[in-house]
Amino acid sequence: MQFYKILENATEREIEKDEALFLFHYANDWEKLWQLFKTASTVRDQQLGKLFKLKAFALSTNKGCKTSPPCRYCGQASSNFKFFKTIASLEEVAESVKIAENIGFKGVQLGGGCSGNKGAEAVDDTRIVKELTSLNVFVNYGADMSEENILKLKELGIGSIGCSFETINEEIFKKIKPGESLKERKRVAELIDKHGVGLASGIMIGVGETYEDRVEHIFYLKRFQNLSLIYISGFFPIPGTPMGNQLPATSVDIAKTMAITRLVHRDIDLDGSFGRDEQLQLWIMAGANHRIIHGMFEPVSKVEQFRRFRGEVRKIGENFVFINILPIYVNMVKEMGLRPDLNEN
Ligand code: SF4
Repeated sequence: MQFYKILENATEREIEKDEALFLFHYANDWEKLWQLFKTASTVRDQQLGKLFKLKAFALSTNKGCKTSPPCRYCGQASSNFKFFKTIASLEEVAESVKIAENIGFKGVQLGGGCSGNKGAEAVDDTRIVKELTSLNVFVNYGADMSEENILKLKELGIGSIGCSFETINEEIFKKIKPGESLKERKRVAELIDKHGVGLASGIMIGVGETYEDRVEHIFYLKRFQNLSLIYISGFFPIPGTPMGNQLPATSVDIAKTMAITRLVHRDIDLDGSFGRDEQLQLWIMAGANHRIIHGMFEPVSKVEQFRRFRGEVRKIGENFVFINILPIYVNMVKEMGLRPDLNEN
């Protein structure tokens, strides 16, 4: 199979499974990687235009994560890096999304862990956001979502609901997420899709999976009619967690997976990894067209911690702040010759 022939054909049509696997193995030096990225960017520009969607991430009122035992890569599995120490109130969520809308955002993601309440907080949060703003809402609580709440969210006009498998390899899933079930995640994703709601789903790389597993995963997602967003999350070791000493997924491996995903899912939104935003311009080269900006709505305690991105800070109640780091992203997108697009559609 010819590497350059596959890429040439990929500008015209979706690649096949064996071609995707070949690209994973064969794109193994800077020259071939560059050709792969160029093809993925060409497909993105042809299918979606030279636009790059930016949305704000806001915490939800979700009462933390009850997954037990916690996922072995997650901060919840470390005594030092636990999330959800400060839970936002409905008023604080409302205030943060109003600020996001005033800045110009049209889309917002509300997220948190799996509280065990099957999406009840997502319904309350979405209701208040819809009452106070015209923002499009995306919520993400993994498998912690009932059919009843999917229907309530649909009625509230939700844009999309997240349900990520992380890996399609059952054995690896059990190893890294011992408190969760891949079967259950698949069931919830199917429910979201069945009810005609946009589905957002993630592929985690660097957790022991093979290229074959990644290809299976990329093609498994094709079964969802309403798939709206795929994000490629690269494993990053958090100190104190059981996986804290493993190597992180590299920037090139994340970008390579992103580019091959773009050659299959040609007109779907494609995003990157949580906490790795300094790689955004590489992701754009690899065919990404979408970023949820994390780190804008934060507990006060986090503001003074080392932060890569800084911006104007506004206080929300006693416990939270809104940090406007949008200009940093606008700059990164423009430098790549794309137009920042805050309009969710
Ligand atoms: S479900 Fe999410 S928040 Fe909870 S332990 Fe797993 S990765 Fe962490």
